[in-house]
Amino acid sequence: MSKIARQHSAHLPPDTRRTNFMEVVCGYTEAEALTESGRCLQCKEPLCSVGCPVRINIKGFINFVSKKDYKGAYKTITEANLFPSICGRVCPQERQCEAGCILGKKQQPVAIGLLERFVGDMAQQHNWQETRPIDLIGPTSKRAAIIGSGPAGLACAYDLAKAGVTVVVFEALHLPGGVLTYGIPQFRLPKERVFREIENLTRLGVTIETNRVIGKIHTIEDLMGRLSFDVVFIGTGAGYPRNLGIKGDSLNGVMSANEFLTRVNLMRGFDFPRYATPVGIGKNVAVIGCGNTAIDSARTSLRLGPDNVYIVYRRTLEESPARKEEIRHAIEEGVQFICLTTAKEIIPDNEGWVKAMNCVQKDETGSSEILLNVDTVIYALGTMANPIIARTTPELTTDKANYVETNGESLMTSMPGVFAGGDITRSGGTFTTVIHAMSTGRRAAKGMLEYLESN
Ligand SMILES: Cc1cc2nc3c(=O)[nH]c(=O)nc-3n(C[C@H](O)[C@H](O)[C@H](O)COP(=O)(O)OP(=O)(O)OC[C@H]3O[C@@H](n4cnc5c(N)ncnc54)[C@H](O)[C@@H]3O)c2cc1C
Repeated sequence: MSKIARQHSAHLPPDTRRTNFMEVVCGYTEAEALTESGRCLQCKEPLCSVGCPVRINIKGFINFVSKKDYKGAYKTITEANLFPSICGRVCPQERQCEAGCILGKKQQPVAIGLLERFVGDMAQQHNWQETRPIDLIGPTSKRAAIIGSGPAGLACAYDLAKAGVTVVVFEALHLPGGVLTYGIPQFRLPKERVFREIENLTRLGVTIETNRVIGKIHTIEDLMGRLSFDVVFIGTGAGYPRNLGIKGDSLNGVMSANEFLTRVNLMRGFDFPRYATPVGIGKNVAVIGCGNTAIDSARTSLRLGPDNVYIVYRRTLEESPARKEEIRHAIEEGVQFICLTTAKEIIPDNEGWVKAMNCVQKDETGSSEILLNVDTVIYALGTMANPIIARTTPELTTDKANYVETNGESLMTSMPGVFAGGDITRSGGTFTTVIHAMSTGRRAAKGMLEYLESN
């Protein structure tokens, strides 16, 4: 067992951070990282890696950190994961690698996420880049099209590029990264970090074409036919909004979390008049739901300056699927949680804007009605598959909700040579994460390489 306590990273104080979009968790100093790495037991049979969906050699990279060989640590991580700066920040380590840490049985587990982030940030600072196996192998004549530049598509692109395949990523939005760019807010995942990690991919020779909506400008049939791609990966995520279906759903001032977060993160709606795309949210905001998306929406709303931000959730806080750390941060910043409460009706003013929301709250004695005076209601109820690809690709088998169906380990779809992964498949169940999306992207890449070899 370790005599040293887990090293905590500095955080911005709540009063400072709720007024701006600066990153909340500061990350380890070198001294903290070294001390923390010394806590690792270097187990003979480590369970941390088993908990990691992409199977990073965690014990190996921490050993390098403890010897101050940070480049060695970076190389070890990037054998499995090109994005340590991202995953170190957003992975739910407490449910994955850190949940397996043997030290964690008796005391706090090794802070694997913070160490991974430290190594990833150090690599960015010193401009270490991925080695270029393409130079060694030489590009093959094979071509892969990746639809969507979220973590699933990027991880798939990474493994294909490393094997020498020519890879083109088609992204619908004007910036790459998927939820990493348009969903997760700056104060949790600075966009500069995301773009630096993506740069590594383009250095490997991957081309990213933005503003390309597949299903509109090209169909999958075009990609495989006219545009001569040998294989295709669908990684379009599940960004389609979901409504509650209550009275007042379509009033002015009701929006989906994805729309709200995209307007702030991607279109810089908080920076009016420098950016001509303001997001007016009024004085009181209610966010419905309590997953990661809801917490991000509430904390983002708070930074736009209203008097009150409520999270209205039908279950207890303990049942929330969001990361505990994020809930704690939200409470510290002043988000108000109204649990065991269901929204029943959104009430308009005379001009069709939201004025209030009627809810039913349950407790041990029964249920009672509460009226919340709000100007904005944000739905963060989970998302759904966008139907655009399914509608334009009749040969592709999808389920009733437009999620793409895949077969077995290779993740090939009903169309030969077309694979899928990430949130557009149901592989993550109800618990979808960045690292899970990446692991399916990698799995599909393996299937695609096998397919290319035999066809
Ligand atoms: C607000 C929010 C916060 C989250 N926080 C966390 C967290 O802290 N930790 C965590 O592990 N997970 C978190 N998640 C979940 C995680 O981000 C997702 O599970 C993950 O991003 C899914 O990756 P993906 O590549 O499948 O899809 P996405 O990230 O959704 O990327 C899909 C990409 O495909 C593009 N696209 C869609 N259709 C087309 C088309 N027809 N043509 C071309 N491009 C297209 C989209 O524009 C998008 O860029 C969060 C999700 C949200 C919404």
